[in-house]
Amino acid sequence: MNPIRHKHQGPWPLAVLFIVISISVIIGGIIYHNDQKKKLLSEKQFELSVIADLKIRQITQWRMERLGDGAFLGENNLLVNKFAEFLKNPRDRDSRINILQSMKSLTDNFDYRNVLVIDTFGNVKLSFPNQDTLVGDHLHPMLPGILKSRKAILTDLHRTSQVSFVHLDLIVPLINRPVNDTLVIGFLALRVDPEKFLYPLIRSLPTASKTAETLLIRRDKDEIVYLNELRHQEDAGIFSRRPLSEKNLPSVMAVQGISGTINGMDYRNVPVVAAMRKIPGTPWYMVAKIDREEILSSLNMQMNMIIVIIILLILSTAALIGIFGWAQRVRYYREKYEFEQDRLALVKHFDYILKFANDIIYLVDENLNFVEANDAALEAYKYTRDEFLGMKMQDIRDNENSFEIQERVRKINKQGSLTFESNHRRKDGTNFPVEISTRVVNIEGSKYYQTIGRDITKRKLAEDTLRESELKFRKIFEESPFPMIMTAKDFGIIRSNISFCNLIGYDQDELTTMTFKNFTHPDNIKVDEISLLRMVAGEIPIYKTEKRYIRKDGRIIWGSTTINIIRNTKDEVQFFLGIVEDITSKKEVKMQLEKSYSLLKATLESTADGLLVVDLSGRIVQYNRRFIEMWGIPPEIISSEREKDAVEYVVSQLLDPKSFLENIQNLYSEPGAIGSEILEFRDGRYFERYSQPQLINGESVGRVWSFRDITQRKIAEREIINAKEKAEESDRLKTAFLQNVSHEIRTPMNAIIGFSTLLNEPDLNQQDRLQYTDILFQSGNQLLSIINDIVDIANIEAGQTRLKLKNVNINVTLRSLNEQYRIKTREPGVSINLYIPLEDSKTEIITDSTKLIQIVSNLLNNAIKFTMQGRIDFGYDLKDGFLEFFVSDTGIGISEEYHEKIFTRFYQVDGAISRHFGGTGLGLSICKAYAELLGGRIWLESQPGKGTSFRFTLPYNVVS
Ligand code: ADP
Repeated sequence: MNPIRHKHQGPWPLAVLFIVISISVIIGGIIYHNDQKKKLLSEKQFELSVIADLKIRQITQWRMERLGDGAFLGENNLLVNKFAEFLKNPRDRDSRINILQSMKSLTDNFDYRNVLVIDTFGNVKLSFPNQDTLVGDHLHPMLPGILKSRKAILTDLHRTSQVSFVHLDLIVPLINRPVNDTLVIGFLALRVDPEKFLYPLIRSLPTASKTAETLLIRRDKDEIVYLNELRHQEDAGIFSRRPLSEKNLPSVMAVQGISGTINGMDYRNVPVVAAMRKIPGTPWYMVAKIDREEILSSLNMQMNMIIVIIILLILSTAALIGIFGWAQRVRYYREKYEFEQDRLALVKHFDYILKFANDIIYLVDENLNFVEANDAALEAYKYTRDEFLGMKMQDIRDNENSFEIQERVRKINKQGSLTFESNHRRKDGTNFPVEISTRVVNIEGSKYYQTIGRDITKRKLAEDTLRESELKFRKIFEESPFPMIMTAKDFGIIRSNISFCNLIGYDQDELTTMTFKNFTHPDNIKVDEISLLRMVAGEIPIYKTEKRYIRKDGRIIWGSTTINIIRNTKDEVQFFLGIVEDITSKKEVKMQLEKSYSLLKATLESTADGLLVVDLSGRIVQYNRRFIEMWGIPPEIISSEREKDAVEYVVSQLLDPKSFLENIQNLYSEPGAIGSEILEFRDGRYFERYSQPQLINGESVGRVWSFRDITQRKIAEREIINAKEKAEESDRLKTAFLQNVSHEIRTPMNAIIGFSTLLNEPDLNQQDRLQYTDILFQSGNQLLSIINDIVDIANIEAGQTRLKLKNVNINVTLRSLNEQYRIKTREPGVSINLYIPLEDSKTEIITDSTKLIQIVSNLLNNAIKFTMQGRIDFGYDLKDGFLEFFVSDTGIGISEEYHEKIFTRFYQVDGAISRHFGGTGLGLSICKAYAELLGGRIWLESQPGKGTSFRFTLPYNVVS
């Protein structure tokens, strides 16, 4: 239940606050107003001074100008002479007219209202215009002074009975200087109307104002005379007067010599601010003034605003304070209400607790009589309410004598409260343990003991059970065959069992003075410490590690350690419980295994063969790098995860998977079998595969495959076989050649020997001799041709053939061959045809003509030799920058299988046929060698029985 936080304080503090704020606001307003007022007044005073100064400057200026006019006129000899003439003879009409013109021009040009000519006696002799022609009383008394001083003067403002307007006079003495410069012959009086300039000047104000005015004043004995019209008393007229005794009048102050600015009362008796000055060179004073009320009128408006603001401020303060006060009151009453609600709830709650509480609650008076008890108490002690309330404390105590009870009461009285355990008795005489909490309470001045008791039978039982289980735990802990250790939060050893002591070599007493760090290998301490702290922080529930311990005798042992953290019900760390398994020997075995494994690995990797180990199910167990290289497993997929996949892929792809597996299975069926096989790949590689079973205790558990790349060996073998075959072929060819050559040589040689003998016959007729000689010639040529061929082929084989390049016109060459062979061809059914598509001019090339002729001749010879009927065509075409020569026949043709072979030396298609046709088998091999030497190639197209077409190319090295 919340106590009421805010006491209700009544309206006074808020009212005081309101008054203070309001007064402060009003004072602030007043200060602001005064300040503004002061500022306005001083600004206005300054303004008035400036106006007064300005006007004085203008009036002085104006007077100076007037006096300047006088000086100018007095100095004008011509004009003065005119006046002198006129004054001498006033009746002279011309002179009068002349003078009047001059006077007119003075009024016109100099802005004077009247001009009078006055003689030295003061009589007006002439005037212009013709009104106000008389001299007033004011002027007469001045004339003697001017006669004497001979200087122009400006009179004061005045009004006379003779003149209709207020004016002042500029009086200029007339001195005819050329005649006598000390004699005044008369006066010129110029009347100035102040309404023309002076009064408007005085009236004009630089700023618009309802009350401002400037006054021109003069002193006249005990009075002041206002020389201009008063703005606010027009009816008073010019020259109104006030006595000097009215000292508050700024005008009075001014004529009494006070200058500056003041606050005073004006002629209307209205408060004004005025600036006063004396006008130098005159008896005049200037007063510029303005009503205070006008000055302050703007302030008054401001003041109204300020008053409104002040009122608003005060009202809002009042509203705020009112709202605050109201809110406070509301809160106070709400809290009071809530407090009351809480209190009622609490009372209910207490009643409820009292009635239904599980705990025993009773109240005992000072004499230890029960005066109140709850249902739980009656239930616990098995009494009715009436029975119980008639009993005393001692009646429910078991085995406690009154002394003990008194002793306890004394303690409670002293301390105010006491908690203790006791044994209470029920009505049926049975006991139960109870935990009692008693405190002294005062109820309406009397002392009571309020007691709360709890039946702790169950707790006691639980405690007993706990004690028992602890004993059991201790027994298990102590006698466990597993080394166990208990460590406190600060890692100090609390308890260790015998097994642990045996493992570590320290006894239990020694261990209680140590922490786990004392027997942990330094390499493990840090990790252990961090892990234990993480357990304390609740990050990990358990810590398992394989670590090294250092025994008391210094020996290092390995322990598989599991550490649990034990917490109490409040989740506080009680201790760590560690269980250790000695795995030293396991570790040693493992190390041995690792050694063997690394040895195996090194062995696997050090061989040049690819090795693969598979288990009984065909699963890959091991393989080496060489295996991967040999099988070409791409480096990008050789990663630890995918390597095996890659190997399996290779095995399935490169080997016929079926036969591979069958092979494996066959081998498994005979566990001891060792097998080898040669694998041939499409890319030309050969692997030799060996297979060896992996046996454990005579039982096959898998198989080791080794692959050796024998491609090189295979190539070498094949080369040897080829060489052998070649040698044999060459041997056969040579034998055939020898047989051929001997036949080819013997035939002409026999003819030569036979016919040369016949030539010696004495009775030989001419015809026979010619025939024999021809036979001898033919046979000699045949022999020479054979020898040439043999020499040529020998040169070719020895690399001795030299080219003799020169310009050759192939058209010419071919034409010549055509001629020769036409004659040579004896078969009547065979025609020879030449085909030369290019013009002669385009057929001159650089080549070796002898070799070219020899190639074509050989081909033509063959064509002729093997063609019985039909035609032989030869010639060339120009194709792709090469001249492609051809020799085609309709002869016996050559079957496909010999197309390559006939270009090897000594080769003839069929021994018997060749023999029939003759030849050595050298012609085509010479053609081939020469065609290639000349930068071309040779080939043929042929079908048996239809004919043959030999073609060869030469570069078209045309001579340009
Ligand atoms: P030979 O001196 O035996 O003619 P060649 O090297 O010129 O030697 O020819 C080799 C063999 O090619 C001939 O023995 C013949 O069997 C065959 N041969 C060459 N030319 C022709 C051809 N035009 N028609 C048919 N067979 C030919």
